[in-house]
Amino acid sequence: MTIQWFPGHMTKARRQIEEKLKLIDVVIELLDARIPLSSRNPMVDEILKGKPRLVLLNKNDLADPQVTAEWVKYFADQGLPALPIDAANGTHVKEILPRVKQLWAHKIETMLRKGINPRAIRALIVGIPNVGKSTLINQLAGKKIAATGDKPGVTKGQQWIKVGTEMDLLDTPGILWPKFEDQMVGMRLAATGAIKEELLHLDDVALFTIKYMVQHYGAGIQERFGVQELPEDMDNIQEMVKVMEAIGRKRGAIVSGGKVDLDKASLIIIRDLRAGKMGRISLERPF
Ligand code: GDP
Repeated sequence: MTIQWFPGHMTKARRQIEEKLKLIDVVIELLDARIPLSSRNPMVDEILKGKPRLVLLNKNDLADPQVTAEWVKYFADQGLPALPIDAANGTHVKEILPRVKQLWAHKIETMLRKGINPRAIRALIVGIPNVGKSTLINQLAGKKIAATGDKPGVTKGQQWIKVGTEMDLLDTPGILWPKFEDQMVGMRLAATGAIKEELLHLDDVALFTIKYMVQHYGAGIQERFGVQELPEDMDNIQEMVKVMEAIGRKRGAIVSGGKVDLDKASLIIIRDLRAGKMGRISLERPF
């Protein structure tokens, strides 16, 4: 799903989340492990207003595990527990409930002390479009949940999904908008598929990706695509284009006459990156 965000949409999205927050105890904030800050809503702290929160770094199957470990530390330093997961395959999804319970343990203790039988913890998943909210809801539910909330004529009453006996999950996630002001953020969102690449120039997104990869994953590029020499000057566009051409040649983006079709090469680079065919790549680091 790709949403074009306008101020009116943001206000509506915020209002919808604030309505949901009234019903819940703990928020599960879903981020993209490859670009945690760029896939984060800029107003999330303000919107969630101090609700206990677990950060999930999703799509970790595509992210660089070493960089993800650094991100977990980054969030921990800010007092936010963070857990890398892969919602599509269900990896580490079973660890979510114990982590949510930790966040709510003090409340349960208080209830028990007062002689009240604690009810199931109520949780809400929030995140930007395409970060994997529906995939995670289906994983936690153990079945495919039809999204009913947005269709006209369908009852809008909130549905709860039982995750074991100890957690109830709201069946419709909270959709947040990413930040747009920073062009680099836009590049990272486009490269990972959070926004349509057509919103930016495809070759710009591919160039950004290659630049980042030359900088951080140079040996992998050389090995995978048989690039002899990597550019030393990251701002030398011509040198970067040579790398793109080498990749294009290796991946068959050739037009008649043996020249590399750069548009096709750009598309292949982005598709390969998103499918994990370039290896596990993170496009943002916490320093
Ligand atoms: P939503 O818009 O936040 O509800 O996102 P979706 O659940 O529809 O997921 C968006 C895309 O990301 C889908 O193509 C999913 O298959 C894919 N996806 C979700 N989680 C993961 C994951 O952990 N790893 C990978 N590789 N893909 C994922």
